[in-house]
Amino acid sequence: MDLARFPRRRYTQGFTPIEPLPRLSKALGGADIWIKRDDLLGLAGGGNKTRKLEFLVAAALAEGADTLITVGAPQSNHCRLTLAAAAREGLKCRLIIEERVPGSYSPEAVGNNFLFQLMGAESLRVVPLGTDLAAEMSTEAAAVRAAGGVPHSIPGGGSNPLGALGYAACAAEVVAQSFEMGMSFDRFVVASGSAGTHAGILAGLTALNSRLPVHGVSVRRDRTTQEGNVHTLAVATAALLGTPAPDAEAVQVDDAQVGPGYSLPTDAMIEAVQLLARCEGVLLDAVYSGKAMAGLIAAVRDGRIDRKERVLFLHTGGAPSLPAFAEILRH
Ligand SMILES: *Cc1c(COP(=O)(O)O)cnc(C)c1O
Repeated sequence: MDLARFPRRRYTQGFTPIEPLPRLSKALGGADIWIKRDDLLGLAGGGNKTRKLEFLVAAALAEGADTLITVGAPQSNHCRLTLAAAAREGLKCRLIIEERVPGSYSPEAVGNNFLFQLMGAESLRVVPLGTDLAAEMSTEAAAVRAAGGVPHSIPGGGSNPLGALGYAACAAEVVAQSFEMGMSFDRFVVASGSAGTHAGILAGLTALNSRLPVHGVSVRRDRTTQEGNVHTLAVATAALLGTPAPDAEAVQVDDAQVGPGYSLPTDAMIEAVQLLARCEGVLLDAVYSGKAMAGLIAAVRDGRIDRKERVLFLHTGGAPSLPAFAEILRH
């Protein structure tokens, strides 16, 4: 796997840490749980989109773009980090906010919404669920061109094959750290949303001949749909890399934590966020990493993950949205 031939901007120095979670492991009575701290990636507030943007923004700069356009939910970490990358590179940034839960957008909302304002999005346009987002981005791009600018559109979540390379790189990082630590993991637990993270990891692990099983926890879609989305993107990412395509059987999605839907709270998410905050001082978020950790906890409790296993949990970030969920998480 030759990632070095792809243009890349660097937003993080070195590797993110892999740390043990001894008090969580003890609270659950096993497994031996470790955490990969991608919440500590670079750009404002960190999180998984930073790795994707290293490749996506490099491509935008190579095209001579002066304006990034992207789309996300009202508390989108991806929009926050795209805006942060734009600020870092001296680019402008236009956001399209998809109101996935009707009535959920409020201009006064704290969390990431406040950060969109603080980091100076050039525009923020709210569209309802069901809008053709690719068409909205084309309209936005046409407006930029009409004003004499050079737009570059980045898909929701940064989840195309180029963005997923960021997580192929993360897979290589985990394999290297695991070797360095002299320690192998039995399972990798990751949140699965727009699928670039899950797919990139699978493409990277397959390219490296690693047999580490990946347990994806869906935050939005049912298992069959999400497994299809992840596999399609993993195959396209492997094609871009010129490496073997992951098998469909390697794609495992657990959809038991979606609850009433994307970004809507569940008791298991609340328990997971509170448990990690109180017993490890680690801040998860309500939309992604809290539900992913709830999936890990449930799988340990019901024996799908054996208590003797050594499990690595990917912390994909998201804590900057926590203030917007304070009422739900307070108790
Ligand atoms: C976007 C996001 C995810 C999901 O990653 P995908 O690549 O979209 O599947 C997980 N956690 C956080 C905090 C995110 O912002």
